Amino acid sequence: MTHVSGRHFLQIPGPSPVPDRVLRAMSAQVIDHRSPEFADLGLKSLLAIKTIFKTEQDVIIYPSSGTGAWEAALANALQEGDRVLMYETGHFATLWKKMAEKLGIQAEFIVGDWRSGADPDQIEQRLRADTAHEIKAICVVHNETSTGSVSPIADVRRALDAAGHPALLMVDTISGLGSVDFRFDEWGVDVAVSGSQKGLMLPPGISFNAVSKKALQASKAGGMRRSYWDWQDMVDINAKGYFPYTPATNMLYGMVEAIEMMHEEGLETIFNRHQRHAAATRAAVRAWGLEVLCNHQGHESGVLTAVLMPEGHSADKFRAEALRHYNISLGSGLSKVADKVFRIGHLGDINDLTLIGALSGVEMGLSKAGVPHERGGVAVAMQYLHDTPAPGIDA
Ligand code: PLP
Repeated sequence: MTHVSGRHFLQIPGPSPVPDRVLRAMSAQVIDHRSPEFADLGLKSLLAIKTIFKTEQDVIIYPSSGTGAWEAALANALQEGDRVLMYETGHFATLWKKMAEKLGIQAEFIVGDWRSGADPDQIEQRLRADTAHEIKAICVVHNETSTGSVSPIADVRRALDAAGHPALLMVDTISGLGSVDFRFDEWGVDVAVSGSQKGLMLPPGISFNAVSKKALQASKAGGMRRSYWDWQDMVDINAKGYFPYTPATNMLYGMVEAIEMMHEEGLETIFNRHQRHAAATRAAVRAWGLEVLCNHQGHESGVLTAVLMPEGHSADKFRAEALRHYNISLGSGLSKVADKVFRIGHLGDINDLTLIGALSGVEMGLSKAGVPHERGGVAVAMQYLHDTPAPGIDA
């Protein structure tokens, strides 16, 4: 392998770059997970993560990727044969539905075009039609990482309430948490699923279920056969700061540090920073004469921007050229939009210059790959950042 100078630009929508402070916090000797020292870390971790979900209810930490936490959510809250309503926001909503079906759940999709978040009106209509209350849960992806669209979760809650429907509200905020506003208690979410490698600025490896009292009750009364994922086993022993099996100790060191950093910056400031960088990115994309995949105003993600390639041009070839020449990783198009879109991640530990560097890599990569575009997108993004106050820096 040959050495490549300079730092790699990891501009995929997660895993996101891990700050040095977090890497240093993780670089510690492993401790006994049954020791009093661990119990302090366990309690601290559980308290810290609740502040990010904005909940006073239980949050469960699994040593798994987000997919495991998806399964935990379904296996605890639902039973085989249950009917659930899901919304086709994109690739990840589709994968979650496939998982539900594999587990024996009858999952119904509200069909979407992969260019917006969920439509609460359609959800309300469907729930109103379900007069027998056969639908046990509604499952929505908060930030659809494959398309760059955000679903309005507070409005989905209002739709459930307006329909007077008792279904559980289950939300995948794997790539939203810590980057896009999310309020578990205030929005009446029953189960939220998340992961470490996106807005929390950690490596991949741990995942989360935030669980409402109503969802915990549903799992106690039923759920599926489960053991490793069982919420109650976790909740019982978590009360003392321990876990039923070996936890990812060093990831917890990192998480406590990352959450401390997030509060130093301020959650609101973080959300605004993501919005501002997303808006600068969209301005660049439009100046290049390219199209943003999300076409629903107000649903554009702060986490990533998916860009449609001009007809007849391969997004994957372009990404390969950008990587070869400029050492930048951009996200690929997934399933239905494979090779048709590329994704620019602008989440986690980045600043104005990181963003401008990444956008420069895209603009120069488009040239190297022979993709027709207008020059000057980066200059437009620079102007946008210049003209738009930076939260936490400008008054
Ligand atoms: N859901 C969303 C919205 C995601 O972005 C991802 C991963 O990117 C997943 C689910 C799956 O998570 P993991 O890859 O950690 O298993």
